[in-house]
Amino acid sequence: MNKETSDAINAAAAAIAPDLIAFAQRLVQTPSPPGAEGEVATLVEGEMRRLGFDAVWRDTAGNVIGRLCGGAGGGSLMLNGHMDHVDPGPAQAWPYPPFAGVIADGRLHGRGSADMKGALAAQVYAVAVLLRAGLRPAGDVIVTAVVQEETGGLGTQCLLEEGLRADAAIVGEASGLELKRGHRGRLEVLVTVNGRSVHASAPERAANPHFTIAGFIQRLRSLPLPGDPDFRGASVAPTLIVSDQTAGNVTPGRLVLHLDYRTLPEETAAAVVASLQPLLDASLSDGCTGQVSIERATMRTYTGLERNVLNAFPPFRLPADHALVRRASKALAELTGKTPPVGFWRFSTDGGHLMQEAGIPVLGYGPGEETMVHTVGESVALEQLQGAAAGYAALCLALTEPLSTSQPATAM
Ligand SMILES: [Zn+2]
Repeated sequence: MNKETSDAINAAAAAIAPDLIAFAQRLVQTPSPPGAEGEVATLVEGEMRRLGFDAVWRDTAGNVIGRLCGGAGGGSLMLNGHMDHVDPGPAQAWPYPPFAGVIADGRLHGRGSADMKGALAAQVYAVAVLLRAGLRPAGDVIVTAVVQEETGGLGTQCLLEEGLRADAAIVGEASGLELKRGHRGRLEVLVTVNGRSVHASAPERAANPHFTIAGFIQRLRSLPLPGDPDFRGASVAPTLIVSDQTAGNVTPGRLVLHLDYRTLPEETAAAVVASLQPLLDASLSDGCTGQVSIERATMRTYTGLERNVLNAFPPFRLPADHALVRRASKALAELTGKTPPVGFWRFSTDGGHLMQEAGIPVLGYGPGEETMVHTVGESVALEQLQGAAAGYAALCLALTEPLSTSQPATAM
């Protein structure tokens, strides 16, 4: 990318910044928990049409897809962002009301600002930057605003199921405008223990699953987990214990312990279950029985589509010298005057689905700090929103160029 092009992108991004910020603010002001993204989808669809996307449509899951047609010889690039957000919890815990979209101290505040309505707005406005600067990418740019990422990525899975493909993808989860080339996978593991429920005044008659669960959690602390220099190893954390009883004077007949297990690329769900089952077997006491499994859940989108899916995100990792990494670093360095750091996310994203289920190479790049995500202080710097719109526009140009003209050494 030459200086003239990067100047044109930066100037266009500065010019559209007020509209971009207003759009991001409207998105934050419109609550859209998983399964109820319809109103935000309407906003996104309307904005794509207004800005001059060549095609805009919704799929059966309710994902919004906008296409900017590029030249015939280039590769296509998907920009992926989710429309849903996690629950804000009690509003009084927030410095600003979670859905007010307050702008203060140069930042947009509220639930979803950093995860990831700010990024989604910047992805939509990257196309506005290109159109304003009169720059057409060499291949198609496909902006996908997806549903239900926070509950396992049903929206992106449905996109792929309906056959949407691209030669490369950028996932816009918070990265502080650094590049991310992978993350660990996530499995929601269930440890189910069945016992015998009795009146708690006669505990000797019970088969009380609590003692089995307690033994299991103790053993879990010494479970050897596979290491990895990039990902700092797999991890496992007990999160919830769900009882079949609600009274304090009844022993449970069944307890389900939830584990958040973060996998390395070589770990399969079956291998994880196989490593945990012996710990449970060794912990069974008082006639309890138990089983380790991966959670499956029936999800329903706001359009009424239903799917029974595994509660899991696959891991992904691009090699450090992958063509996508090199070309993206170069383009962002030319745009901003400094080479962006390249690292890994701690959390999981839809990037795992895109790469593992459809073979689409994925890079992460988005506004907002990773540490802000899922907190009551969630906010995103306005400067980063503008920077992201410019960055996405530059990536749309650089990553759709035919490979042969820029990187002959490595195939994407
Ligand atoms: Zn997110």
